[in-house]
Amino acid sequence: MEAAKDKGIELVTNTEVTAVEGEPGNYRVALTHKPWYVDIDKCSGCGACVDVCPITMPHEWEQGLKARKAIYALFPQAAPLKYVIDREGCVECGLCMQVCGLDAVDLSQEPYTEEVEVGAIVVASGARVFDPSVIEQFHYGKFENVVTNMEFERICNAAGPTAGELVRPDGKHIHSIAFVQCVGSRDLSHNRWCSFFCCMAAVKGGRLVMEHAPGAEVMVFYNDLRACGKGFEELYTRSVEEGMKFVRSIPSVHVNWTSNNPIIVYEDPDESRVVSKEIDLVVLSCGLEPAEGTSQLAELLSLEKDAYGFLAERHPTDGVAETKRKGVFIAGICQGPKDIPDAATHGSAAAAKVGVFLSNGKPQRKCGEVDIRNSGGVEPEFPGGNGSGESGQDA
Ligand SMILES: Cc1cc2nc3c(=O)[nH]c(=O)nc-3n(C[C@H](O)[C@H](O)[C@H](O)COP(=O)(O)OP(=O)(O)OC[C@H]3O[C@@H](n4cnc5c(N)ncnc54)[C@H](O)[C@@H]3O)c2cc1C
Ligand code: SF4
Ligand code: SF4
Repeated sequence: MEAAKDKGIELVTNTEVTAVEGEPGNYRVALTHKPWYVDIDKCSGCGACVDVCPITMPHEWEQGLKARKAIYALFPQAAPLKYVIDREGCVECGLCMQVCGLDAVDLSQEPYTEEVEVGAIVVASGARVFDPSVIEQFHYGKFENVVTNMEFERICNAAGPTAGELVRPDGKHIHSIAFVQCVGSRDLSHNRWCSFFCCMAAVKGGRLVMEHAPGAEVMVFYNDLRACGKGFEELYTRSVEEGMKFVRSIPSVHVNWTSNNPIIVYEDPDESRVVSKEIDLVVLSCGLEPAEGTSQLAELLSLEKDAYGFLAERHPTDGVAETKRKGVFIAGICQGPKDIPDAATHGSAAAAKVGVFLSNGKPQRKCGEVDIRNSGGVEPEFPGGNGSGESGQDA
């Protein structure tokens, strides 16, 4: 939303990069714009079309926990807040056209490609969340009240499918919850890396449950708890003191078909015996893996991937925001799992590297000078510029 408000940033949404040619500092990028089936210059985002559309489909933003119409805006803070038609579901009944006072619906739109010239490229295409249905012992997709951490995020969200009320998919209020850590991560059968964010995301989620439902029982089943970050260990310790229970064990999940409650079966490390416990909701802390499309992006941009399939940085210590291709940078979890602060720091590093690269590695302003090169005459917030004179990338 901040980027959408920034006059220096042009957001190009619903668009795919389909070709990249040229050389560092002078790339020609083909952008294929997908049809919205709505003229977004005309659409005011009023949503009148949604009320009349007869087609309901699973809502991907809400992780399928809610339905949406065939004409929809993905979420209320979408930028731009314009409506789009999902042609997979649309039956071309024309009702949205009839109700739209701005004549914005246009089912005849076709994809089109344009070429833009850019000096540098930053790839920040993210990662995807591991699909736990491949691990049989958790019965994800078979037991209704076993959800992923993504689904749990939506359940907790005030704007989510339950309006922030802590209820599980079958509608019952949540008074006991178990988080299962390292689902698909640190597991030689699936992904061997640590996904970094999920231990603290579980602690955060558990605390939220304890705040919303005082007296709620929160259990976290873990492999090793990784609370490495500023203030993280302290938050973990405080959570233990406040009653969150951490059990070093990898459980399996069963179900009581009468109550629809999941049953956690685990080895209690204190008593060295197998215990089973009925609970309201199980949250699988699924890790991150390379996003679909990472290989195509790597090929398109001639980038290397690391051994796990994430985009490779130029150097693990002094080139984390750069790639081996000059003028092409990376930011965020497309390079490997991170939490939000680290992803934002990585993004800032990439932006700074782009600034240096586009100024040909020369300082934009010398000490004591008032004129600013390439800045459009706007004073930087932190006078002094960068002055490093290095882009750090290999030629
Ligand atoms: C369930 C869950 C809970 C989490 N909780 C926390 C938390 O509490 N605290 C925390 O700090 N971190 C948390 N994280 C981690 C956090 O989500 C990530 O650190 C952060 O989203 C990384 O940002 P990013 O911009 O690199 O990637 P993303 O947020 O994944 O954004 C990448 C974007 O690129 C788009 N994209 C992909 N391919 C293309 C393409 N070819 N062209 C154009 N666009 C493309 C995607 O649609 C997406 O919008 C959580 C993660 C998950 C999965
Ligand atoms: S034309 Fe398609 S999007 Fe519009 S109301 Fe009918 S089904 Fe919904
Ligand atoms: S952050 Fe925690 S839950 Fe996530 S993969 Fe690492 S150890 Fe496992």
